[in-house]
Order: sequence, then structure tokens, then C-alpha cells
Amino acid sequence: MKILVPVKRVVDYNVKVRVKSDQSGVDLANVKMSMNPFCEIAVEEAVRLFEKGVATEVVVVSIGVAQAAETIRTALAMGADRGILLSTDLDPEPLTVAKLLKAVIDEEKPNIVIMGKQAIDGDNNATGQMLAALLDWPQATFASDLDIANNKAKVTREVDGGLQTLEVNLPAIVTADLRLNEPRFASLPNIMKAKRKPIDIKEASSYGVEIKSHLKVVKVVEPPKREGGSKVESAQELVSKLKEAGVL
Ligand code: AMP
Repeated sequence: MKILVPVKRVVDYNVKVRVKSDQSGVDLANVKMSMNPFCEIAVEEAVRLFEKGVATEVVVVSIGVAQAAETIRTALAMGADRGILLSTDLDPEPLTVAKLLKAVIDEEKPNIVIMGKQAIDGDNNATGQMLAALLDWPQATFASDLDIANNKAKVTREVDGGLQTLEVNLPAIVTADLRLNEPRFASLPNIMKAKRKPIDIKEASSYGVEIKSHLKVVKVVEPPKREGGSKVESAQELVSKLKEAGVL
């Protein structure tokens, strides 16, 4: 069974992002970039399935600038077998990413695609769903548990108000939620080993998918600064303050 894991290079989740002075976007100059945390969870799940003998190959794919090869290398150090980079200096929207991933899937023919539920830069939460629609494959999003047997995936999903368990026939798209697993840190020997694993670098433009924007960013602003709170001495004082503020 072959697993394909799309991984995105994003601003590291520990970085406090700064808006560019012209409000056109977020400043990416000299900012630490890392693998999107939900993609890390997807890689971890795929590697665990490989280690359990359920999967025979884990292929990671990233679409983005040349440095996205480092993100792929991180996934290889975690245990993935090989990588594919679709290189572009543009920043493709989810529909374009989904179309490019579909082109890769048509070539690679994986049995399952495990990907992040969301990339923490654009917070789109759209690519997996769009990819499932383009392929006409079943989708199980926000997975917190995944079990594969008899060419089916049993997926527990985190939904509002509880957990839902679905069974989907493979091939299928599964998107990873936070509680699916805790990704491992790559060990030094595995980082060294990953240097010898292959990454196939291709031009994203060679897939016949037009990389054009349907959206225009009007402006990006910082969230409003938090106003200072105050401490109350008693529950009574709290109630009267809430009454004054018109909350009660
Ligand atoms: P999004 O819909 O943008 O929130 O992203 C959801 C998931 O789609 C991510 O966690 C990745 O698995 C995948 N994805 C999004 N953009 C890319 C990209 N440029 N390259 C590879 N995978 C991507």
C-alpha cells in the first residue's frame, strides 16, 4: 500500500508574525520556516502505518519554492521513503494546489492520501476537500484516529459536540487533526540517512495547471492589541461590574 503525504512549508508556529509596512501581507524575510504542524502529524501517521507493515511506501510531496525541499527532507528524516517537489515561486491557492496534487496522484497512484486538515499560514482548511472532489474519492476530514484494514479506512473524526466514526473505501483522502498522534523528532542518524533519500524536483508549471489567483488580498492588519484587564476582590464586585458593562 502506497501512502502519499502532501506537506506545506509555512512560517514556524513559534514565530510571532509581523505584518509588512505596506499591509500587503506577512513579512517572510529572515523568518524561521517549518513543516506545517498538521502535515507533520500526517507524516507521522503514514510512517507508523509503514512501521506496522500496513504500508509499503510513504511518498511526500510539496508545492512551493526551492526551499520546500528542506521540508521534504524533514519528512524523509521522520521515515518517509522519497519526496517530490513541484517547484514554483508563486503562492498557489488551495484549488490550484488540489489540481497539482491530483496530477501527482494520477502518476503515483497511491492507495491513500493523508494530509493536514489545515495549513497554519492561510488557515484555508480546503485543499483536502477540494482534492477529494476533483478525484471523486471519499474523504474523512479532521481525523483523530485511523485504522486501515481490508482496503477500508475507519476514521474517527473530531466534530462539533463529539466524535464521529466513518468507514471509507480506499483510495481515499484523510486529513489529520491535532489529536491523531504526537509526531516524533527525527534522530541524528535518521537525519543523516534522509540526505541519501531521493527528492524528485519538477517544475509545477509542467503539469498543465494554470497557477493563477482568484483572490486579491486587499490588506493585512495586526489583530487589535489586548486591553488590560483588572482584578476583582469578590464575586459580588464581579457581578456589579458586569451589570455596569451591560453584560448582565
Ligand atoms: P489548506 O487547505 O491550505 O489549509 O491546507 C491543508 C493541507 O493541504 C495542508 O496541511 C497540506 O497537507 C496540503 N497543502 C496545502 N498547500 C500545500 C502545498 N503548497 N504543498 C503541499 N501540500 C499542501
